[in-house]
Amino acid sequence: MDPLRVAVIGAGPAGLYTAGALLELGVPVEVDVYDRLPTPFGLLRYGVAPDHLKMKSLAVQLQEVLDDPRVRFLGDVEVGRSVSVDALRCAYHAVVYAYGAAGDRALDVPGEHLPGSAAAARFVNWYSGHPDVPADSFSLDTEAAAVVGAGNVAVDVARVLLKSPDELAATDVPDHVVAALRASRVRDVHLLVRRGPLQATWGYKELRELGELDDVDVVVDRHTRALELPADLAPMARRSAQMLQEWAERPTGSASRRLHLHFWSRPVAVQGSAAVTGLVVEPTRFDEHGLLVPAGEPHGLTVGMVLRSVGYRGLSLPDVPYDERVGTVTAAGGRLLRDGASSLGEYAAGWICRGPVGVLGTNKLDAELVAAAVAEDLPALQARVLSSEPGRVHAGLPAAVTCDGWRAIDAAEVQLGAEQSRDRAKISSWDALRAAARRPAPVPAVV
Ligand code: NAP
Repeated sequence: MDPLRVAVIGAGPAGLYTAGALLELGVPVEVDVYDRLPTPFGLLRYGVAPDHLKMKSLAVQLQEVLDDPRVRFLGDVEVGRSVSVDALRCAYHAVVYAYGAAGDRALDVPGEHLPGSAAAARFVNWYSGHPDVPADSFSLDTEAAAVVGAGNVAVDVARVLLKSPDELAATDVPDHVVAALRASRVRDVHLLVRRGPLQATWGYKELRELGELDDVDVVVDRHTRALELPADLAPMARRSAQMLQEWAERPTGSASRRLHLHFWSRPVAVQGSAAVTGLVVEPTRFDEHGLLVPAGEPHGLTVGMVLRSVGYRGLSLPDVPYDERVGTVTAAGGRLLRDGASSLGEYAAGWICRGPVGVLGTNKLDAELVAAAVAEDLPALQARVLSSEPGRVHAGLPAAVTCDGWRAIDAAEVQLGAEQSRDRAKISSWDALRAAARRPAPVPAVV
């Protein structure tokens, strides 16, 4: 029997967990994993904070999937540009869309696009060494920064801005990020939360880390101290709220950097002419219908940098049904829907399927769902008459970075790190990544 041939678009956790689950189907299978980047692991590499080492170590599991001889990695291949979705559908029995959510949401306030105002996702990509973000994108040449949002990304970004550069310099961040963090003038970070402490979407453990930062005072507004906790509050939300109340009691004033937590505060304008000089913040409250409404006169906050951390957004792919309202492909139960009905041989997993929420482990559930759907469809998939084959697709992609290419990049980064007494230092430009992928042996310092 011919193997079941599957193309997975996206080599992040969603794509690789799905590839791994397909290997367990109990039938001969070959999985080709395509990615726009020359490196695998998606958000694990370019989203998980560099100091979250336990989470980063999940890369070992994902690498095991890539190491399976039935799996082929094809990096530096943009589906929709280098190869069409149609070409993949003609060559594979099944195509899995697992390409994540590379876009970000806007605040939709005046001044948002001034220099100095950016999506937190771009800042995260910058400190993670993403090749799409030039080294000089962030200078940290300001004493005060604002971060808008109450999710785990906002918490990550605030922590990286305030953490001791020596600690971050020991992680895998690229050299230019180490230099910028060491030169950083940031002393005050204002975290703006448009609702209250009980509505924040951050996690307890993630929030706790903010209170553990060396030489950082956490300044919590006085209302939080008197906050009443409802009896039916979920346990982790209760712990987070109690921790905020403890912080509100702590003496402040001795540390050299400060994190200011502003609840019930939403930005209504970014100020500045040539660059950001401040933020106009409006106090908020819930009205009798639970809607967020203004609660007083807006006031100014002097900041030289604004990072909006108000959520990611999935992007569309040519010829793939997409729901503009929510920024996902149209799918149900792991199956892609065309005109409201499941499309045989098309599946979806991860953020592009269910939206930008959930932890890395949530992708395992998506992967199981897709594998179960493929198992159910197996006879029909194997009966599909294909007009092409993967070999023909590969032939049109001579510059694709294979698993060997990725191993060479990996070795080069480890070598670069070893030269600086750290486990790894990221290579962060397209040219340097492509050059490293072509070299069989570790390379010396590259930027
Ligand atoms: P998120 O949890 O959805 O948080 C988005 C935040 O933006 C919410 O606090 C939201 O407030 C706020 N917001 C939305 N529109 C706004 C506006 N116009 N003005 C002001 N605030 C606005 O998303 P995320 O932080 O991007 O995280 C994405 C996913 O990745 C989450 O599931 C997260 O847990 C996960 N993640 C986990 C970690 C980790 O270390 N565990 C790290 C990073 C990310 P409202 O609630 O009021 O809408």
